[in-house]
Amino acid sequence: MASIEKLPAEEAQLEWNTPLFRTALAQFEQAIPYAEINESIIARLSSPERAVMVAVPIRRDAGNVDVFPAYRVQHSSVLGPTKGGIRYDPHVTLGECAALAVWMTWKCALLRLPYGGAKGGIRCNPRALSPGELQRLTRRYTAELMGVIGPQEDIPAPDMATNEQTMAWMMDTYSMQVGHAVPEIVTGKPIALGGSLFRREATGAGVVMVIERACRRLGWTLADQRCVVQGFGNVGGIAAQELSSKGALVVGISDVSGGIHAPDGLDLEAARNWIAAHGSLEDFPAEHVTNAELLELPCDILVLAALEDQLTGENAPRIDTRLIAEGANGPTSIEADAILAERGIPVLPDVLTNAGGVTVSYFEWVQDLGRLFWTRDEIRARLAEKLGDAFDRVWALADAKGISLRQAALVAGINEVAAALKARGIYP
Ligand code: NAD
Repeated sequence: MASIEKLPAEEAQLEWNTPLFRTALAQFEQAIPYAEINESIIARLSSPERAVMVAVPIRRDAGNVDVFPAYRVQHSSVLGPTKGGIRYDPHVTLGECAALAVWMTWKCALLRLPYGGAKGGIRCNPRALSPGELQRLTRRYTAELMGVIGPQEDIPAPDMATNEQTMAWMMDTYSMQVGHAVPEIVTGKPIALGGSLFRREATGAGVVMVIERACRRLGWTLADQRCVVQGFGNVGGIAAQELSSKGALVVGISDVSGGIHAPDGLDLEAARNWIAAHGSLEDFPAEHVTNAELLELPCDILVLAALEDQLTGENAPRIDTRLIAEGANGPTSIEADAILAERGIPVLPDVLTNAGGVTVSYFEWVQDLGRLFWTRDEIRARLAEKLGDAFDRVWALADAKGISLRQAALVAGINEVAAALKARGIYP
């Protein structure tokens, strides 16, 4: 049998060879020249350690049975259990999960959390499923993954279209199978089940902590900045609120239905109430723009908090902002990165900027394992300290090596994983 390094790279990556995975690999390759890493470690980290595909059957409310493709990809367990969200979305693929798992590895390592990266999801339209159907889907998916998840193996968390309730169903299903309550099997749970205070706000609040630190480095005052936020869910909704609470002016927001714009500042509370009452921003009384137009609105800070692949080679030349913050995973393509660098627009990369979520997930897991819970202020302060430390290391590395913040963040993460892998060696 041919060894994997004898196969052409494209063939070796066949199962997850999708555009998003190629983006994750291309970013890895761009960071390699600046990292302390050798050929065998590069080969090991270029593929996920494990990928599980399952077909999940559920009985629909109408009585028929439908089957949904679902995935869980674990990229690297060298530093500890793998960790990553579960998303419900019509576009979920093995390659998407693999790319997101790779980014989770770098993110956890950059933040010096004792985890590797994972990601999972079910290919479905969550908006077309009733609460009962979502519950059955979540429980059966969890049961299918029993052999590969666990508090010391792989710990799921919420992602797009999954939430505290989804995690409660996962925790209950896992606990029923093993015969006792295991809160530490998932993070992002309800507080009543051992969830952590501040977990829900952690990603969005973390995005703004990183933006604030960047503003300080750039000599700007956050309160003077005009911001546009794409995505008004868990990450974007909280980020917009935090920006506004720090005095910045939020002039544009959007959700899946499109965006709204007000050069003098939006009433965020009214937008939140509208979504709670009507389901989306559609028909909200304001000037409407498409999501594509929203990205090109003039502003000082553009926060991307919806989904991947939003800034591309096509629209990057027209982006009219001074700083980009990636709350979502993978929102900037390789081509867009190059164009933005050329135009001198710094990008605060996803692996650093949205790491608040996994950091407080780590705090949640530690609290569950210790059965000892911290206060909200304690958690917020610990998060600010961890993100601040990671930000300073990334900024210093970018300065020292003359590389982008993304490359520096990846290099910092890759170096942590590579050092651990080198010390452990390849088993047997
Ligand atoms: P969410 O489901 O709560 O919110 C997503 C938002 O994006 C919603 O407002 C939705 O309407 C909007 N949206 C969906 N499709 C869109 C489209 N085609 N165009 C424009 N807007 C669209 O999800 P979330 O948890 O806020 O996650 C958003 C991003 O942040 C994802 O990339 C996710 O991987 C990433 N992320 C989330 C967390 C977390 O803790 N929730 C942590 C790290 C990274």
